[in-house]
Amino acid sequence: MTAEKILKLRSLIDKYNYEYYTLNRPTVSDHEFDKLLAELAALETENPQFYDANSPTQRIGADLTSGFAPAKHHFAMYSLANTYSEGELRDFTVRIQKEHPEVEDGAEYVAELKFDGTAISLTYERGRFVRAVTRGDGTTGDDVSANVRTIRSIPMVLQGDDFPVLMEVRGEIYLPFDSFEKLNRQRVEEQEEPFANARNAAAGSLKLQSPAEVAARGLECILYAVQSEQMPCATHFEALAKLGKWGFRTSEHSRLCKSIDQLAAFIREWETRRFTLGYATDGVVIKVNDFRTQRDLGSTAKAPRWAVAYKFKAESVATRLLSIEFSV
Ligand code: NAD
Repeated sequence: MTAEKILKLRSLIDKYNYEYYTLNRPTVSDHEFDKLLAELAALETENPQFYDANSPTQRIGADLTSGFAPAKHHFAMYSLANTYSEGELRDFTVRIQKEHPEVEDGAEYVAELKFDGTAISLTYERGRFVRAVTRGDGTTGDDVSANVRTIRSIPMVLQGDDFPVLMEVRGEIYLPFDSFEKLNRQRVEEQEEPFANARNAAAGSLKLQSPAEVAARGLECILYAVQSEQMPCATHFEALAKLGKWGFRTSEHSRLCKSIDQLAAFIREWETRRFTLGYATDGVVIKVNDFRTQRDLGSTAKAPRWAVAYKFKAESVATRLLSIEFSV
């Protein structure tokens, strides 16, 4: 009975992953999807005899499509553990401080907005853009360099000279609301199905086969991480500042926080303030600031142990309502 339930949930979640990552046409809200995934994870934990490395609880939802050359990441691209509850966020900080008593006094986290677009990895060698690759299955992604070159805010040559010889810069490609609305108006005029939300429109646009068409869509990119074997600094917050100096667009809203109360205040502030932004956010990402502590904490098969995403509940409902509105 339990085995049957687990298999059913795995197959349903695989179908939703396909609709979301490959077709960019989800049929359920993120909140419903996350509830099903949590239900499956709980069943698998209670029944370890049914462990399967191919279960969607163990794998990153893959965005690989035909039509683009596959490219391997130097550093794996992970998903994020997520929560909708402030209590679980507190548990996260308590767990980190338990495992790392040395950070108990003045443990530092960075709170960032969670941009709701599609993840991208930009490779730079000696300060020059080499390629842009989607997250894919976390190990290998689609090489979308020709499309990414059309995004003007992404530098092809970096400023300064303190960047690593080889690095992967990670961020989010998104479609600002005004471009999204313009695109959907055009699609309705041309009797094409409009995109359900800006996230799907961004992910779909990045996978177009014509860079000229991509350029017309108005994609934007915001960068939030650096990966390299020769990191030029010891903390994530310093890395964000470096990214800005090298010429990348970063978020001016990222904040260094020294306590759970400061993290909670950031979340409460952005729960409403995000509606003033011209682009979609679906939560807040909390990251341990110190790279050495990050390395010590490591990752599961799917997500780093040093970060967690707090998801805004209302956004999932709003996204759903929007998709219903468009489909009637
Ligand atoms: P995720 O969205 O939960 O978190 C990881 C991603 O967050 C990263 O890959 C990155 O792209 C992004 N991100 C945005 N801002 C960031 C920042 N400041 N720092 C670091 N990363 C940042 O990732 P996921 O694994 O792609 O997807 C899971 C989510 O997608 C779930 O929460 C689920 O709700 C949704 N989903 C929905 C459906 C559906 O059918 N509705 C299907 C599959 C997945």
